[in-house]
Amino acid sequence: MIDQTRRDCPVCGASLAMHWTDEPLHEEFREGTYEVTGFTYEKCDACGESLLRAGQADEVEKAAVALARADLGRLTSEEILELRHDLGITQAELESQLGVGTGTVGRWERGTVLQGATADRLMRILWSHPELLPELGYVVREGRGPYRKRK
Ligand SMILES: [Zn+2]
Repeated sequence: MIDQTRRDCPVCGASLAMHWTDEPLHEEFREGTYEVTGFTYEKCDACGESLLRAGQADEVEKAAVALARADLGRLTSEEILELRHDLGITQAELESQLGVGTGTVGRWERGTVLQGATADRLMRILWSHPELLPELGYVVREGRGPYRKRK
């Protein structure tokens, strides 16, 4: 049963305009809009604003990112984690390889942000050709990673 409690909209101020709903939510990416279902949340009759509970926005985003990745054929969170472990590099090192901002790879691995097509292709290339890492400026450090010289 959906809660029938109503309250004033905290966004537009309309009286008792907030109602509970489980209507699909729409998440927009550059590549398209994806419809996410299965969430119950408050929505304003007057201004249309949806209010998600703490943590719910992240869950909605993750669901949308998973749909988009499946639809667009992009790497999943698990695959990004796996390729990074195979390459023996940290999140910060992968960010530096790809030229993306600090924290980006963590957000991809948590599934809250959809990686762009270019980064996705570059990650696939690195995964299948780890020898390219030094070409991209990866600094080989002694004693760790897949390029450690065997004695
Ligand atoms: Zn409102």
